[in-house]
Amino acid sequence: MKPCALYVHIPFCKSKCAYCDFFSVVCKASIDNAYIRHLIEEAGTRVAQFDVSEWSTIYFGGGTPSLLALNQIETLISGLKAVRPAAENAEITFECNPDDITVELLETLKKCGVNRLSVGLQAMNDKPLALVNRRAHRAENLRALKLLAEHWLEPQQIVPQKLVRGAQPHYDAPQNLPESPCPKHRLSVDLICGLPGQTAQDFFAGLEDIISCGADHISLYSLTLEEDTPLYKAVDSGKVKLPEAEETDSWWIKARDTLEKSGFAQYEVSNFAKQGCRSRHNMTYWQMLPYIGIGAGATGTVGSLRYTNSRSIKDWLCGAGEERELLPPEIQQFEYLMMAFRTVDGADAVEFETRFGKSLDVIEPVFSNWCRRGLAEKNGSRYALNKQGLLLLNRFLEEIICFFE
Ligand code: SF4
Repeated sequence: MKPCALYVHIPFCKSKCAYCDFFSVVCKASIDNAYIRHLIEEAGTRVAQFDVSEWSTIYFGGGTPSLLALNQIETLISGLKAVRPAAENAEITFECNPDDITVELLETLKKCGVNRLSVGLQAMNDKPLALVNRRAHRAENLRALKLLAEHWLEPQQIVPQKLVRGAQPHYDAPQNLPESPCPKHRLSVDLICGLPGQTAQDFFAGLEDIISCGADHISLYSLTLEEDTPLYKAVDSGKVKLPEAEETDSWWIKARDTLEKSGFAQYEVSNFAKQGCRSRHNMTYWQMLPYIGIGAGATGTVGSLRYTNSRSIKDWLCGAGEERELLPPEIQQFEYLMMAFRTVDGADAVEFETRFGKSLDVIEPVFSNWCRRGLAEKNGSRYALNKQGLLLLNRFLEEIICFFE
């Protein structure tokens, strides 16, 4: 029996954001208790299937987990812990939309042992938020930050008090903050760079608000236009205009540098954390460790087996529609590198050889070339892209994929 990470998918949203291609359905009424019951049942089936001893991390994602009623959250978390206990100090993350945050929700999550919130603020200005159909606009985001400051974070986590106390958020990013241990109630915030209607001024003011909100982890994404989303269609038809890519690329780089100066170290392409506050659950994916996914549309990978649950909630509730694939060794090897090179730690040649019985020397010609161009570094047995190299990750992966075909 071994510990395993658990992902719990709650595929319901009150409305769809225009850029989103995640699997979720619009749910105006409350979430059916049958969904909660079946999540617990599936957890029971999966632990038997994969011989799981305890949950190393638990991540409630979506969709919108914060749409669950308080009693459903209690039933779900206690049910999952009854199936298998959470490991000591397990990271338990719960994704929240800002407008769902209430004192009662925060108290319930604390009571259930949730110790990390991931809040999708995305921006702090009304125009870009409205153009992508986000439910929460600036006022709701500020209200959420105020509640988090008062009912979730410890007082020492708040950097300046201006944002949460006053009407006029403004923040001077502190330089080289002392490194602090990870707090008891952790907070991660998402921000998107390059939304329609976003100006440089909006974006950097939003970044300052977020740096000062007490978060220990920030995900800084560049907007990606996914086909088949309403935003893609609106941009394609000329109805909505995005800021120029060249301009937003330079915003992202400047934001990365601001975050680093403010005590948030980049540890993955889009993720920044204070010391000790990396997302342990997401590190499971980037290190290709086993994880179980439960819920409609969820995926799990244990060893070479990957399963994907049906996206039809009706089918999933009947236990139907699961797809399984056995990953061939070359696919596993390339996926391992694809995930490892997303992080600043990169890939370890010794670990690669132990896992796959194959030497990482195969990528040496490409890697040496990237080192000569100042985009990658080798440290002992570790191969990693540096910050400049991470900006070109996809190009690097295109150059090494031929060794795994
Ligand atoms: S709330 Fe999240 S999952 Fe739901 S539509 Fe918006 S981005 Fe997608």
